[in-house]
Amino acid sequence: MSGSRVLVLNSGSSSVKYQLLDMRDGGRLAVGLVERIGESGSRLKHSPADGESRERNGSVPDHDAALKAMAAELDRDGLGLGSPELAAIGHRVVHGGLRFTEPTVVDDAVLAEIERLIPVAPLHNPANLTGIRTAQALRPDLPQVAVFDTAFHTTMPESAARYAIDVETADAHRVRRYGFHGTSHAYVSRETARLLGRAPEDVNVIVLHLGNGASASAVRGGRCVDTSMGLTPLEGLVMGTRSGDTDPAVIFHLMRVGGMSADEIDTLLNKRSGLIGLCGDNDMREIRRRVDAGDERAGLAFDIYIHRLKKYIGAYYAVLGRVDAVAFTAGVGENSAPVREAAVAGLEGLGLAVDGGLNAVRGDGARLISPADARVAVAVVPTDEEMEIAAQTYALVNDSGNQNLT
Ligand code: ADP
Repeated sequence: MSGSRVLVLNSGSSSVKYQLLDMRDGGRLAVGLVERIGESGSRLKHSPADGESRERNGSVPDHDAALKAMAAELDRDGLGLGSPELAAIGHRVVHGGLRFTEPTVVDDAVLAEIERLIPVAPLHNPANLTGIRTAQALRPDLPQVAVFDTAFHTTMPESAARYAIDVETADAHRVRRYGFHGTSHAYVSRETARLLGRAPEDVNVIVLHLGNGASASAVRGGRCVDTSMGLTPLEGLVMGTRSGDTDPAVIFHLMRVGGMSADEIDTLLNKRSGLIGLCGDNDMREIRRRVDAGDERAGLAFDIYIHRLKKYIGAYYAVLGRVDAVAFTAGVGENSAPVREAAVAGLEGLGLAVDGGLNAVRGDGARLISPADARVAVAVVPTDEEMEIAAQTYALVNDSGNQNLT
């Protein structure tokens, strides 16, 4: 294995995000995004480390065209996919079910299994598969590695992973709690231990990944023991557009009394609920601006968001028994001081507090925001899913390289 670069691809249904990383020093050589694939107004944005960002508009009918456009931009920077420096391509794959507990080099059997999981990840796995197949066609000789969002959560005990429904029915349809955002929870829990100057095995952390999608996890000694998303990313916290926890009977009620179809309710709960459903905005910056201006709907949306978050902090405190740190991450967690302050307000009895001054400081790196004498550390720990995917991919192909995998 000579190359030290890893290309990370995150393929969605109408977008592809990519990063090219050099694993010798963790440097980011290029970052980019192709949006509105197969729609009008497709756009590519490409930012090389050594140069100006470039934007291109034009037709990008499918993922094949998207990856070719990306490859052309990388070529222009002398970073082309043909380079012997490229060691592997790492793909974010949302659903790995129970089978994939680790990053995995893709072969036909792996592709078939990701395909078999489409019924439990209908929005994500098809796009992830397309991304892998397209990348394979571009560089058939290169290892393609799938890194699964669910993998970190496969250590959850059955008591946390099972819903209390009839076991035969659940098993027949693979209904259980899988959890998502696992790459982020893994990375952030480890970085939190590093921030505390301790080994991950010695530290219990509650990770709050608060982006547009949001999830919490309870991590004991580096292993996930519970997480808030379930069969799909709909369960748990209030999110940008998803409801998070509701009584499942809400669905039957809306069917029987509201005359809505399953698909309509699916759209309601995934796309028209959460913050946007409550107040018409899903960007926390805008919501805070409205709250500060005295807007009551935005105020209620914020309160519901915080109430749910607090419930999960309390629940995971109880699950873990001893908590060393609570880590905030992703767009809201890293940037919204009001959310962090409100989430731990009144939890002094649990040893949780935020120092107003530290919380208000904006910064890029991992940092503590709890008072110096706090029993439990509260931290802001920026997530870096691409780096984690690249690191796992690189480690795997270097290991496998010894067994002549490529
Ligand atoms: P995704 O789930 O799409 O990966 P991100 O982790 O990038 O999301 O988070 C996006 C969200 O972060 C935005 O919708 C917005 O609510 C929030 N956000 C981003 N920047 C800020 C900020 N400066 N202050 C408050 N919230 C922010």
